Amino acid sequence: MTLSNSLATMDVATSLHPYTDARAFEATGPLIMDRGDGIYVYDSSGKQYIEALAGLWSVAVGFSEKRLLSAAMQQMEKLPYYHIFAGKSHEPSIRLSDKLVEIADDQRLSRVFYTNSGSEANDTIIKLVWFMNNALGRPQKKTFLARNKAYHGITIGAGSLTGLPNNHRDFDLPAIPVVHLTCPHYYRFGIDGESEAEFTQRLLVEAEHTILQKGPETIAAFIGEPVMAAGGVLLPPEGYWPGIEALCRKYDILLVADEVITGFGRLGTSFGYKKFGFSPDIVTVSKQITSSYMPLGAVLFGERIYNAVADNSHKIGTFGHGYTGSAHPVATAVALENLKIIEERDLIGNAAKLQDQFQDRLSQLAELPFVGEVRGVGLICAVELVADKASKRPFSKPGRVGTLAMQIGHEQGLIFRSIGDTLALCPPLIVTEDQISEIVARMHRVLTLTV
Ligand code: PLP
Repeated sequence: MTLSNSLATMDVATSLHPYTDARAFEATGPLIMDRGDGIYVYDSSGKQYIEALAGLWSVAVGFSEKRLLSAAMQQMEKLPYYHIFAGKSHEPSIRLSDKLVEIADDQRLSRVFYTNSGSEANDTIIKLVWFMNNALGRPQKKTFLARNKAYHGITIGAGSLTGLPNNHRDFDLPAIPVVHLTCPHYYRFGIDGESEAEFTQRLLVEAEHTILQKGPETIAAFIGEPVMAAGGVLLPPEGYWPGIEALCRKYDILLVADEVITGFGRLGTSFGYKKFGFSPDIVTVSKQITSSYMPLGAVLFGERIYNAVADNSHKIGTFGHGYTGSAHPVATAVALENLKIIEERDLIGNAAKLQDQFQDRLSQLAELPFVGEVRGVGLICAVELVADKASKRPFSKPGRVGTLAMQIGHEQGLIFRSIGDTLALCPPLIVTEDQISEIVARMHRVLTLTV
């Protein structure tokens, strides 16, 4: 964190960092991480931090899992790279597809397409759905429904589905036909006197009105994260997902669950759609699929989409979409081993078992001044700070308090994410009861030192 360090100087001189205020960074330099151990990471000065965001919501098995190292090395030795274009394949890709279909455990989800990232997975679904609708002779059915505050990635397509101003402003997005519906966060967007059930109903009426106004024949798909993470850990109100599913079925609109964060146990279930009781037509995954030890994303979908795409690819001669790194053998081998560890150690069960302790202990922070709402499910949670608790009035300079809290968190050896003035926590799924107590104690200290 100091420019006296030569690595820091080199970094400032040569790189542009994602999601960073570049000019502020020139002054402060980077916090250089050096090594990991379980839920902990250590910076280049040797200081220890609890990584309470699991990297970027993604390191399920912790930062020192040797079995993933072995899986990567073995695959590197055997076949370090191959592709699955034009009739080729390889064992880890085949086995991983089989495993993903088994975990998805839904007849709608029987096929897998691989990407390198969550953004590319969400880009892929746009193209998949468009390709399908062109093949089915309904080329006008192209518009996506998404939500304000959604995060689906940053490529031109996925970034268009994202509903956050910083991802659109000055990037000329959205660049595809998309309608962003009201964010389903009851605390912020519920109207005074409106019950949670009435809020849900209002959102469903809005969605149906939008579909009818645009014409159902123009709406291709609805995409949503079961829990909106990067938008501030926003939980759906009661009955929301079954209601959205019913609308999608009524108007022949594909339902896409973006499970890039919620997939593989974050909510105490294998997928978020199981937590909230709906059945998507398409699911996108990434992050926890490899615990982010290797970049990998995937799209799961079913036979209806597959058959339309397969017929058209046969007619044209190819399905002209795919990445050099699609189903990278090392990434898919690491994913297989990672999913095996999640299964053998019952890390999904661990999230389910610890969720009450995690959520209950953190919700006690709501008693502190300036804490507006504490919300979460499974092992993901957020603490929203406000200038006035009674009126929920935000601070006049949004993000300033959140950034300060993050800095104090670093001093206290706790890494979390500030989203404006909301502080998000999402520890590795290997976290223990004692470690949760320590996370909550440090968070309490951070809050009392911040505001
Ligand atoms: N979808 C969701 C729900 C995400 O949270 C993210 C990243 O945080 C993405 C998609 C994009 O994934 P990636 O950063 O791998 O492109």
